[in-house]
Amino acid sequence: MKNPEIVFKFCPQCGSKSIAIRGSRSVYCPECDFLYYFNAAAAVAAVITSERGMLLTVRAHDPQKGALDLPGGFVEPGETAEESLRREIREELGIELKEARYFASFPNTYLYHGITYTTLDFAFHCTTDQIDHIRPADDVESCVFVEFDRMEYSKIGFDSIRNIIRTFIIGAGIK
Ligand SMILES: [Zn+2]
Repeated sequence: MKNPEIVFKFCPQCGSKSIAIRGSRSVYCPECDFLYYFNAAAAVAAVITSERGMLLTVRAHDPQKGALDLPGGFVEPGETAEESLRREIREELGIELKEARYFASFPNTYLYHGITYTTLDFAFHCTTDQIDHIRPADDVESCVFVEFDRMEYSKIGFDSIRNIIRTFIIGAGIK
């Protein structure tokens, strides 16, 4: 597990070895004034509910392959969070959302190819009238509906997703 600034051994602009970590999330090269920040990446997560409970996905790939998750993913440059959410749901579940309402955000870390990225996960409460047409794809192996009072928090892969689900369920006044 490595933070991205640790792996910068040379300045990517001038090749100097003088590049150094500056502060907690940037690298700086005094030779050519190169300065690069490692910002948190924006991500979105959908809490899709129906009379069967909350839709959870089973992750098809690492990190956290096999763990429970919410559908969603990284926001791409130029997208709004709402556009990103609808795109991810289309890609992962093959359906369109009806409503999507933002309710909370939580920070997360995401270990990928040996580098730990920091993210900020934005959570939306979503509805759809296409529940029966879900076709898991992409990062999603399968889907399950879990009743709010039967949530198994230990099977959820990421802390931020666990916090989102807990916040939603508390907010819904279930437990
Ligand atoms: Zn340089």
